[in-house]
Amino acid sequence: MIPIAKPLLGEAEAQAAHNAVLSGWVSQGPQVAAFEADFAALVGAPHAVAVSNCTTALHLACQAVGVGPGDEVITVSHSFVATGNAIRQCGAMPVFVDIEADGYNIDPEAVAQAITPRTKAIMCVHQIGMPCDLTALLLIARAHDLPLIEDAACAIGSEIRVDGQWGKIGAPHGDIACFSFHPRKVITTGEGGMLTTRNPEYDAKFRLWRQHGMSISDTARHAAASVVFESYIERGYNYRMTDIQASVGRVQLGRLDMIVRRRREIAAHYDAMLAEIEGLSTPFEPDWARSNWQSYCVRLDPAIDQRALMQGLLDQGVTTRRAIMCMHMEPAQADVELRHSLIRSEQARDHAILLPLYAQMSDAEVATVVDTLRDEMAKARGAGASRRKRGTLKIVATSNADAVRAAQPMREPG
Ligand SMILES: *Cc1c(COP(=O)(O)O)cnc(C)c1O
Repeated sequence: MIPIAKPLLGEAEAQAAHNAVLSGWVSQGPQVAAFEADFAALVGAPHAVAVSNCTTALHLACQAVGVGPGDEVITVSHSFVATGNAIRQCGAMPVFVDIEADGYNIDPEAVAQAITPRTKAIMCVHQIGMPCDLTALLLIARAHDLPLIEDAACAIGSEIRVDGQWGKIGAPHGDIACFSFHPRKVITTGEGGMLTTRNPEYDAKFRLWRQHGMSISDTARHAAASVVFESYIERGYNYRMTDIQASVGRVQLGRLDMIVRRRREIAAHYDAMLAEIEGLSTPFEPDWARSNWQSYCVRLDPAIDQRALMQGLLDQGVTTRRAIMCMHMEPAQADVELRHSLIRSEQARDHAILLPLYAQMSDAEVATVVDTLRDEMAKARGAGASRRKRGTLKIVATSNADAVRAAQPMREPG
């Protein structure tokens, strides 16, 4: 069985966790501080703040830029549900815009058209590790004096060229970038997140809010030579990362270069080997972007039955996943007012799949995936053709969804 993903964890991580446990300091402490310093250096950020996961990072990012009840945040529907949930946790509503024609990232033109007087921020997502068009997004954000939050959950190690300069995602190019260390991402701490920013005021807010709004950190109080009475300056949260997690994260960071190099190699193999399979297209990487290939997403001809293909692959021992979800199609976000066409997002959800990709994957396993996919695609094309002949398959995804949307009266906000 070839899994969709597999975290790369070894003795070094186990030893680091072991050492953290035996140090006697297991909650947020010196290992978290060291992990933050390592992370900031790696992505080139002036400030990095570790938190419990990327969803809490996104929540703090929204709160820092002042997102609150009645506000709108422009983002994609075509993302993991946490992107939208973080906005709603502030009492604000997401305004969903579509993705670009040639990829899975937010369409800057759609962002520009979606701005209203209630827009408080723009939240872009470097989806499955592929950098967004930050050059275009920054231009729009600056022109309208709007903060840009980067959901970089999947994008540790990804690179982008902005103003002729190559840099890592998380510098950050926008105002704040948020990362995830969930095992499904490129490196992991079990659960974990990181915020990066250039703004020292945001940095101070994140540190305050992540530990109950407390005036002094645990480590500072612990080290104090005289008695300290803390105070609670603002209403905060418990969004802390533990020292056990951070010690694992430091080892993982040391492996990042090797992991990303291998992932890029596998993606290049896939690109080359999948090119001749009919009815399938490989992902597009702009010349100003270098993905970390957190996921490798292939596009299917709309005549191919996505679920049947995935089942056929699974039966042959190859695990795949449906491509990125659309939040507006889930009950949890069904009350979001839809103002803009999301047709490309819907098509991407329904006509793309993610292939297995992890650093430990052997070239033989990559070849197995390709061979199995070639066979299953041949079957799927045959099934698609015969269904078409019988007239039972309607390939009307595009016009159908558009027509449904046009026929539906716009829901009231709230
Ligand atoms: C995984 C993911 C998140 C959530 O990250 P957690 O660390 O699990 O909270 C948010 N946004 C995107 C785009 C993701 O892929």
